[in-house]
Amino acid sequence: MIQLIRGFKDILPGEVELWQQIEKITVDLFEDFGFSQIRIPIMERTELFKRSIGEDTDIVEKEMYTFPDRKGDLVTLRPEATASIVRAYIQHKLFAADPVQKLYMVGPMFRRERPQKGRYRQFYQIDAEIFGVASPLVDVQLIFLLTTLFSRLKVADAQAHINSLGCPRCRPGFKAALREMLMSVSDRLCPDCIRRRDRNPLRVLDCKVPSCREALADAPSILDHLCADCRQDFDAVQQSLDRLAVPYVVDKRLVRGLDYYARTTFEIQTGSLGAQSAVAGGGRYDGLVKALGGPEIPATGFAIGFDRLAEICGLDVENLLDKPQLFVAALGDRSQSLAFEWVCRLGQAGIRAEMDFSGRSLKSQMKRANRLGAAHVLIVGEDELEKGAAILRNMETKEQTMFDLARVVENIKQIFAGSR
Ligand code: AMP
Repeated sequence: MIQLIRGFKDILPGEVELWQQIEKITVDLFEDFGFSQIRIPIMERTELFKRSIGEDTDIVEKEMYTFPDRKGDLVTLRPEATASIVRAYIQHKLFAADPVQKLYMVGPMFRRERPQKGRYRQFYQIDAEIFGVASPLVDVQLIFLLTTLFSRLKVADAQAHINSLGCPRCRPGFKAALREMLMSVSDRLCPDCIRRRDRNPLRVLDCKVPSCREALADAPSILDHLCADCRQDFDAVQQSLDRLAVPYVVDKRLVRGLDYYARTTFEIQTGSLGAQSAVAGGGRYDGLVKALGGPEIPATGFAIGFDRLAEICGLDVENLLDKPQLFVAALGDRSQSLAFEWVCRLGQAGIRAEMDFSGRSLKSQMKRANRLGAAHVLIVGEDELEKGAAILRNMETKEQTMFDLARVVENIKQIFAGSR
């Protein structure tokens, strides 16, 4: 039997209802905050991700699904959404009417990481981006949006972590100080960190290898190197989070794997996910629109890991499963064909009705109705058809009432109106 590809997964009925509910709550909230949906392709030119994510990142170095298409152009399955959304913003000149645009999308991403619990090769993200606002207040708004969403989804222990990555003016000074410190602990760093030390030292702060984490206990903090503007910006973020009563921790080790981030950076972490503690991450990326050929327009955004969110979401799936309102237990050919008509008409009217097509005994049809969790069963046999009346059984209270078969669809609609 052919199995699915390692790191990929099916989302089956039973789980899908939870995903749908999460998506609905998220979309409602985003739209209340003025975001519009954008849909972007799953595949882009490889160049887009190389230029926006950066050549020295794990994603570009070793995780992208890249291949030549039939004409030999290199294409890549999207590993994240920001690059494509920025491309669309520039390509369609969305800034022309109004540079301020708030966009969101939900969909699959592809990274060839080592699969483990909470880490897949096809995973899903909910992504939000705000273009055209330089104020750090919108960074706060994004964090507020995330914490509000997580509380609506009954996530128990989500915690916001924030840091500043400085700007192109102050970051080089910090990078130099960090590189110097890293030279002094080189013998304790993993081979990846030795490479990062020379090319992209900020990423060493992000390494999960325990010996690297220990070696970096006394690493310098970027917060001690911020220029006056970045300092003021980061203070404003904290004051505003305080005013909104959003709890957070300042986490000097928090850096983003992607090159285009600057100033505010944040992550939502949770203890319930084991090693993969980040459920959402984001921050400001003011230089990217220009770097990809657009005007100089600031931007900020985040991505939530949908798979991880579904795992820690506290909504009750049982209550979300849609059960039939009516099961028609039909005995005999004539009843069966009438039942079929009713079931079709009821579905059309928005009432979920089921029946058994195999003409089995009343006992086994009742069993099936029970298994499906049907709220009511209408029992129809030849006798009932003769009399023009059948029994409608409430499966919860066991109460049975006589039901007029002359206008089944209308009567059922009337009885069940508003009961769903
Ligand atoms: P990133 O785009 O790397 O900032 O990731 C944003 C969020 O996506 C993370 O916080 C995770 O929740 C989720 N995520 C990233 N990579 C994976 C993966 N391979 N499998 C599942 N979720 C992921």
